[in-house]
Amino acid sequence: MPDDVSHIPASTPLQDSFGRRITYLRLSVTDRCDLRCRYCMAEHMTFLPKPEVLTLEEMLSLSRAFMERGVRRIRLTGGEPLVRKNILWLIEALGDEVKRSNLDEITITTNGTQLAHMSHTLAQFGLKRINVSLDTLQADKFAEITRRDRLTDVMNGILTARDAGLKVKINTVALKGKNEDELIDILDWCVSEGLDLTLIETMPLGDVADAREDNYLPLTAVLPRLGERWALTPSGHRTGGPARYYDIAETGRKLGLITPLTGNFCDGCNRVRVTCTGRIYMCLGQDDHVDLRAALRSDNPQANLHAALDKAIGAKPKGHDFAMSDGRMVGKVGRHMSHTGG
Ligand code: SAM
Ligand code: SF4
Repeated sequence: MPDDVSHIPASTPLQDSFGRRITYLRLSVTDRCDLRCRYCMAEHMTFLPKPEVLTLEEMLSLSRAFMERGVRRIRLTGGEPLVRKNILWLIEALGDEVKRSNLDEITITTNGTQLAHMSHTLAQFGLKRINVSLDTLQADKFAEITRRDRLTDVMNGILTARDAGLKVKINTVALKGKNEDELIDILDWCVSEGLDLTLIETMPLGDVADAREDNYLPLTAVLPRLGERWALTPSGHRTGGPARYYDIAETGRKLGLITPLTGNFCDGCNRVRVTCTGRIYMCLGQDDHVDLRAALRSDNPQANLHAALDKAIGAKPKGHDFAMSDGRMVGKVGRHMSHTGG
């Protein structure tokens, strides 16, 4: 059982130079993963040596420093967060912060492979909703996209999570020539299983085997096709994130679209990302970062951490530069998504 700590005292909220309040932290708990999605990782990745990765205790201290500065929601991601050893310890500790009202929400983004055996514990520790990434319902295509034959585990995991009372949102990266012809089936399946769906445009993060442009599918081209199958009406629903939502008539479900390439969403950005080595990236699409690990491991972690946070947030850029230009994807950054945390 994590240590009991009292109410976390509030101090100066984190606000960037564009007046945006930072209330949302995405914390990558590992760079490792049990899948190898082609758009996210190379087949042979060199993973970080253990001493470079923050311990779970350090991740909890860091999270508490963010809470002191006004962060209300934390999403654990990776790599695959549920393959990090003892991750349930951190999830329980953060769940306790929700119970103490120091946080509004703790949630995760997962590939779903571990959910069949972990969902009930996650629900017990206070998770209310999770995002599960799934790009196809076909076993052979799943094995091709992720380089691993794990669709059955993922499907069992998703249904176990739903039955454990977690709200499940499926995240699907729209991939030209891969799942393009299946997006209607995926939406139909989500509606029939009582799951929400968000479609995401692929982004130029890190080098992968295929040219990014080969798989890029603009969601502006997908929406009209989905609209022929379901009556979609723009929704005012917002989660503070980049997705824009549509109500799917008569289903009570929502379709989200995340369009970094066809529709920039940075104006209302309320988030920062911290890698498993303790680097804070103020924008997914920029390389500026500040090392929080050095502050955490210093003689005066509390003061140094808050000074590092001030420096980082003061340097938060206006937005990413991802775009298509003459058929090429521009604004690329060298880090893989699995490094920064999706
Ligand atoms: N392993 C977990 C998972 O797959 O959900 C969490 C980490 S993963 C990096 C988070 C999300 O990033 C996934 O939904 C994945 O599809 C997405 N992603 C990875 N690389 C991407 C890219 N280049 N462009 C768009 N989305 C990407
Ligand atoms: Fe792993 Fe998630 Fe990246 Fe796929 S998208 S390789 S599941 S980290």
